[in-house]
Amino acid sequence: MSAPTRIVVIEDEVPIRRFLRASLTPEEAEFFESGTGEEGIRMVAQKSPDLVLLDLGLPDIDGLEVVRRLREWTAVPIIVISARGQEKDKIAALDAGADDYLTKPFALGELMARMRVAQRHFALSQHAVEKTFESNGLRVDFESRQVFVEGREVRLTPTEYRLVALLARHAGKVLTHNQILREVWGQAYEDSTHTLRVHMGTVRQKIEADPARPKFVRTETGIGYRLMLE
Ligand code: CA
Repeated sequence: MSAPTRIVVIEDEVPIRRFLRASLTPEEAEFFESGTGEEGIRMVAQKSPDLVLLDLGLPDIDGLEVVRRLREWTAVPIIVISARGQEKDKIAALDAGADDYLTKPFALGELMARMRVAQRHFALSQHAVEKTFESNGLRVDFESRQVFVEGREVRLTPTEYRLVALLARHAGKVLTHNQILREVWGQAYEDSTHTLRVHMGTVRQKIEADPARPKFVRTETGIGYRLMLE
């Protein structure tokens, strides 16, 4: 059996902390809880957790500030918890280096899935760069710069390839529009969400069996895109 996941929870709402503690067994997770951002940052430094669950609305400092300060020295997966309708805050948190987000109220199954993906992504990022990505019938060969769907090669333009390759390198993780624009098109194209949407449309025409119901790349409405892991 593997050791329990060490989780620092930075959240001032006691019912949510109680829900988390009640949801996972001590064999599954060991919780360290903080109701403020400053204490939470110290706790992450002291406990070296496997994962951080972070509320954006904290009584002392902004959750965003917590993300920025943690990212100065740690790559620990951070999942942000926020209230519905805080899209701008979620985007800012992802841009600042958070791995994913959950919208309150969230179901346990959703939390578990996000935790698994964040940890898998972290584990992958610690290894040498992979030569290929494969999941769900989609294969990306980063050396030959080829993309295959169910074993058949898909012809992509260089920009479309960069888009797919970027999402595949961060599979499971939501990337914001600005993160994608910056990586694929460069700094000057930040805020050109329309450009991204057009290219994503053509990519979907090429890789998805039904572009209206994408299987590989999911739209995170108002935030960005996520390449799904099986
Ligand atoms: Ca709060």
